[in-house]
Formats: sequence, structure tokens, C-alpha cells
Amino acid sequence: MNFHEYQAKELFAEYGIPVPAGRVARSPEEAVAAAKALGGNFWVVKAQIHAGGRGKAGGVKLCKTLDAVQDAAKALLGTTMETYQSAGRKLPIDVVLVTEASDIAKELYLSMLVDRATRSVSFIASAEGGVEIEEVARTNPDAIQHLDVNYVQGLQPYQCRKLGFALGLNAKQTGQLTKLMLGLFKLFNERDLALVELNPLAIDTAGNLVVLDGKVNSDDNADFRQPKLVALRDVRQEDEAEVLATQYNLNYVTMDGNIGCMVNGAGLAMATMDVIKLEGGEPANFLDVGGGATKERVTEAFKLILSSDKVKAIFVNIFGGIVRCDMIAEGIIAAVKEVGVKIPVIVRLEGTNVEKGKEILASSGLAIQPADDINDGARKAVAAAA
Ligand code: ADP
Ligand code: MG
Repeated sequence: MNFHEYQAKELFAEYGIPVPAGRVARSPEEAVAAAKALGGNFWVVKAQIHAGGRGKAGGVKLCKTLDAVQDAAKALLGTTMETYQSAGRKLPIDVVLVTEASDIAKELYLSMLVDRATRSVSFIASAEGGVEIEEVARTNPDAIQHLDVNYVQGLQPYQCRKLGFALGLNAKQTGQLTKLMLGLFKLFNERDLALVELNPLAIDTAGNLVVLDGKVNSDDNADFRQPKLVALRDVRQEDEAEVLATQYNLNYVTMDGNIGCMVNGAGLAMATMDVIKLEGGEPANFLDVGGGATKERVTEAFKLILSSDKVKAIFVNIFGGIVRCDMIAEGIIAAVKEVGVKIPVIVRLEGTNVEKGKEILASSGLAIQPADDINDGARKAVAAAA
């Protein structure tokens, strides 16, 4: 699950990580009131969306007067924003964060994630942070530092100091970095996070570290024990089809292509997407209807796939292991009848009672194209979508 910057900063503050004072606003009037309450005469109004890259897209506005704060909030609220990180989606701006502007001397990068390769929680850091971090990673990978945390020992202060010196920090800043990293590590573990990114982690002109932007992602598997995090969910920032899928307990991810896939088992779903690409097509989604694919689930899955008008053909690829192929065939027919599918549907069934399943589909009178195997099915789906 993803969080807004303002929510991330609230979490950081709870763990003693320095963030500038800020307040959220849902109207230009609230933004002005927020700036007044913060005091000072230099603020930043920031669009709250589940994507970075806001600075480059005009979502971070520096304001030196209350009028400017009002104008910035007016320009942002109620609009949508697409950034190079929003995966082609326009995200709604319902909230802005009004925050103190910092005088920045330098922008660093610091993130934390679960690194499967080293089987540890790892920190990634760079002295060259800010909005060009992807460029730094591409052109100057040596400027990126890695630190793995030993699972048993936990994060050790000496590791933080070593990283601080590698980033060119002085002794005072290295002390601040150590405290900040120990706080982050505690936050990461206690709240079951999957990713934290501070970019920029700034050094202000007084020489102190302050977190100016924060991205947090939590591990959904731990939702059951993180009710406070779950309460922060903002479904308006999420893909509509994916939100629907979670309601039906379907594993669904929207993709860019035009061939809808309905498959049981994550492995077979991945293989199906691979074969579609091999045949020159592009999958519109990943969808695992699960081992217990009942008629109801198949119907919901069809609705979900058809909720996108990008989809030009559907490839159903089901292995009847625990479920029987004849039952699946009946489910498909019921779903096609109920939902009223107007695009070609290609079905490949294999496994228990496969012959009976094929017979049921063939005698249904519906325009369902049978496929002999995964390659045949993918080929037919690609041809049908073209
Ligand atoms: P994004 O990563 O989505 O582009 P950021 O919050 O990182 O958004 O803002 C982009 C840039 O705007 C930062 O790199 C920083 O230079 C500037 N900025 C952001 N917040 C502040 C702030 N509170 N004070 C001063 N400058 C800021
Ligand atoms: Mg940023």
C-alpha cells in the first residue's frame, strides 16, 4: 500500500525523524489558514498524489506571500496530475501539503527496502539526491552507496557513521544521520514497511539534516496487524480495476496491452503473459483467479477484464487440477451470458474432465474459440486482438 507524502512525514515525526512543520489543506482558504498557522514568510504548496516527479510536473510551488499560497492551492486542488512516475495515469489532487520552505544547501538521497538478493533490509544512499536521482543512477552508479543490515544484529550505529562519512557529511551531520537511520529502521520494522524513500534528504543552510520529501510503501501481507496504516489508504489514488479486484479477492494487475487474460495460478498467469508477448501481443492484465475458481469468481473476473475498453480479446487459460474443467466451462458460459461479452473469447482448458469441458463449450452456441494448448491460444488471441 502506498501513502501520501504528508502521511509519510507524520510517521517520520513519530519516530523522531526531522521534517519541516506542515499542514494539509483541501481548499485554497484552508491553505492560507495553514500558512498563517505555520507562520514565517516562505512556504511550499505541494500536490499530494501517489507518485513522485511532482516537482518537474509543477506540483511543488514555492510561495512568498499568502496570495501566492492561495493561488498555488487553487491551481492544484481539484485537478489531476500525471508525472513520469505515475505510470500513464492522471492522479487526482484532493489535498495539498502546505509546509515551511527550507533553505537548501544540498540534497541527498536515502532509501530503505527489502533486498531479496542479500536477504536483508538495505539502505541506498547518494550525496547527489534531488529530482535527478534516476539520472545519477544511470550515469554515475558509483555515486550510489549500499548498506545491508544484518538480520540478527540489526542496524549498528557504526554502519550509519561509515555511510555518513562516505556521503561527505561532517561529524555533526553524521550524528544526525545515525539518529535518523536508527529511527527509520525502527519505523520500517514496527510498521511492516516495504519501502521508504527520502528524496531529498536535505542539508539546510544551517548545516542540519531535514527530510523534505518522503515516500512510504507498506507490506500488504501485514495489513491485518497494521490497522492504523490501513486507515490511511486513499483508494482514489489507486487503479480502479485493482481496487475492485481486492474486493473480490482476485490477484489483478492492470497492464498496458489489449489482450485480457484470465488464468488460474500465478505461475500459469506469468507464463501466459510471456507466451502472448512471444506471439507478438501485449497482455492487458495479470489475473490469477485462484485455485478455487468458482462460477462467481469467473464472472467477477470477466467483469473486471471488461471494465477496461482497451481490451480487444480475452484469453482464458485454465488448468483444471483441483477444479474440474467441466465446472469451469459452465462458469465461463454463465459469465459470458451474464456480462454480455462482445469481443472474441479464446479458451484453453487442460486437466481433469477436459473433454467434457470442451464439449460443453462447443455446444453452448456462444462464439467461444477453443484452443489446443497455450501457444495455440495465445496465437489466436493475438490474431483476434489485431
Ligand atoms: P517530487 O519528488 O515529487 O518531485 P519533492 O517533494 O521532492 O517532490 O520536491 C521537489 C523539489 O522541490 C525538491 O527536490 C526540493 O528542491 C524542492 N522542495 C520540496 N519541498 C521543499 C521545502 N519544504 N522547502 C524547500 N524546497 C523544497
Ligand atoms: Mg522527491
